[in-house]
Amino acid sequence: MENAPTEPTSPVVKTEAEWKQQLTPEQYRILREAGTEPAHGRAYEEFKKQGQGTYHCAGCGALLFASDHKFDSGCGWPSFYDPAKAQNVRLRPDLSMGRQRTEVVCAVCGGHLGHVFEGEGFGTPTDKRYCINGGGLTFVPASP
Ligand SMILES: [Zn+2]
Repeated sequence: MENAPTEPTSPVVKTEAEWKQQLTPEQYRILREAGTEPAHGRAYEEFKKQGQGTYHCAGCGALLFASDHKFDSGCGWPSFYDPAKAQNVRLRPDLSMGRQRTEVVCAVCGGHLGHVFEGEGFGTPTDKRYCINGGGLTFVPASP
């Protein structure tokens, strides 16, 4: 994979000003401000068309998800049933919006990715749905 971002070997720590400079406004809003992109947005439309490949953190390049674990949940956001590299994905309780949810963050740079839901009966091997903002991911197509 010639275009694959370099996998960080230690935690990536930057100031908010540095992130702002590096990321697009949309990436910054998602990764650093825990924003949520609109359902069925542009990133999701692209996601549906993408073939085999891997998904990396748009902030630090860490490998997060792979096309092997994609499934169509119909929710309007990229959905995976498992991370590609579990150590790069951290889960933490999120009690915002008056609901108990589990937030998914990049373990390397702390960027917000989305939420994970369990037991919804999608019939995937894990019965989990990692509901991820496509705008916070960089897709790297598998080499042919
Ligand atoms: Zn990251």
